[in-house]
Amino acid sequence: MRITGYYFTHHKEILTQQYPENRETMYIGDRFRGEVVMLHNENNEHRCTGCSACEIACPNGTIRIISKFETGEDGKKKKAIDKFVYHLGMCTFCNLCIIACPTDTIVMSKAFEHSTTDRKSLTKILNKPGSKIEKGVEEK
Ligand code: SF4
Ligand code: SF4
Repeated sequence: MRITGYYFTHHKEILTQQYPENRETMYIGDRFRGEVVMLHNENNEHRCTGCSACEIACPNGTIRIISKFETGEDGKKKKAIDKFVYHLGMCTFCNLCIIACPTDTIVMSKAFEHSTTDRKSLTKILNKPGSKIEKGVEEK
């Protein structure tokens, strides 16, 4: 009773959140790992070179990089990403893929409401439709 009374007068110290009522305002810690996502800029460009470092780093085959070859402005053929396949249902959120990425293309999002009745929806293509690589990234 004494502790309950304490929290009546110290609202800011209450850690319990009223989910899902507070969905729009809820606090999620900076280190929370919810889902691997690929960053795209406003021009629908990403930084993925298709190097497969993330796929190799993943301990359980959650990532599959499907590559293709594109002809660059200089007429030379270059490896490029066709599809970044991510199986959310297999991911253990270990972060190893993100550490391995040399171009900081992928990050952990704070999404956490992953319940579904359709297993197929857990397999995601992370590069957006029509997206392409940001100019200059492949040379780095
Ligand atoms: S977070 Fe870990 S398990 Fe998930 S895709 Fe990355 S390396 Fe694989
Ligand atoms: S996300 Fe990063 S590590 Fe993975 S294929 Fe693309 S550039 Fe390479």
